[in-house]
Amino acid sequence: MGTKLFTKDLSKFYDTVAAVSRINLDIKEGEFLTLLGPSGSGKTTLLTMIAGFTRANRGKIFMDGTDITSLPAHRRDIGMVFQNYALFPHMSVFDNIAYPLKLRNLSAAKRHLLVQEVIEMVRLNGLEKRIPAEISGGQKQRVALARAIVFKPPILLMDEPLSALDKKLREHMQLELKSIQERTGVTVLYVTHDQEEALTMSSRIAVMDRGKIQQVGTPAEVYHTPANRFVADFIGETNFLPARVENVFDATANLRLAGQVPCTVPKTPGMTPGTQGVLSVRPENLFFSQDGNESTGPVLTGKIQDSLFLGDAFKCFIRLSQQDETGPPPVVVMKRFGRMPQVTPKTRVTIGWNPSDAQFFI
Ligand code: ADP
Ligand code: MG
Repeated sequence: MGTKLFTKDLSKFYDTVAAVSRINLDIKEGEFLTLLGPSGSGKTTLLTMIAGFTRANRGKIFMDGTDITSLPAHRRDIGMVFQNYALFPHMSVFDNIAYPLKLRNLSAAKRHLLVQEVIEMVRLNGLEKRIPAEISGGQKQRVALARAIVFKPPILLMDEPLSALDKKLREHMQLELKSIQERTGVTVLYVTHDQEEALTMSSRIAVMDRGKIQQVGTPAEVYHTPANRFVADFIGETNFLPARVENVFDATANLRLAGQVPCTVPKTPGMTPGTQGVLSVRPENLFFSQDGNESTGPVLTGKIQDSLFLGDAFKCFIRLSQQDETGPPPVVVMKRFGRMPQVTPKTRVTIGWNPSDAQFFI
């Protein structure tokens, strides 16, 4: 698969603040790549630079190998869907969708054919004559999507397209979007601040923070082997326990946690004896026992502080013996169970984990 879109050192400053800083992104043909990051991390700025609505201060954008950095937006042949739909309120659904074709001077017959085709695809049949005020939020988003793909752009940019929809509809639309993308083969650059949405939809995720890309990888890579503390914290849920590096070996390193508890982690770059940082273990990788029979791996002790029944899972908050009430937040253990296990608040427990499921971050 070839490179569809490529940015080289792309940067945007507002006054002296870098909204987007030296972004090198390589999007492959037919890929679904998601920019994931908190509000203000520069996702929209990056997307609108690629669309041609925002001028870059530095860097270049290439599409199919051609430099498009100074090409105006309407000549970039890129489809775009915004969060707020941006439909024309007085135009019918049909005319909204046909608009890009009109701009491109297609004949009425050709327009009709193409619009009918996407209307089938996004399942808006029967609503052609309505105006936006007469359809639901989900239907408006379908119109916006239809309008963005009707001229068959080779790349589609979407900025938080589902965030105005309620949870059920959003999840339904995620599957539909993914299926439309797979059927049409269109390359998608998608923006969301919702990590669950990013994990379910993307072939790769670029995690952004403060204008910079922190990591690019498949959903499994960014979840299981986060590149740094920010990524570990932002994607999924994790426990951070203060730790100090003791010894470093070829593939592993020994740490000491609070209370001098020793443990081993896979070695990561930059680890030297004496380095202070955190041990990161995801809640689903921790196991706890109330009878103290933890045999393998490192063991911490604590008291059950609280437990939550979440329907499909069960979450337990444990305050470690080494923590005081004003100290760091309790450790979270999460299990997916058919039934809620018996837990008694305030009982003493031991917590263990597999060394290969833990990571050290500075
Ligand atoms: P995101 O889409 O990830 O929420 P944005 O790209 O909208 O982030 O914004 C990135 C940063 O750039 C933020 O700090 C924001 O305040 C700033 N910014 C965005 N647009 C402008 C603008 N037109 N003028 C000044 N600052 C801006
Ligand atoms: Mg934004």
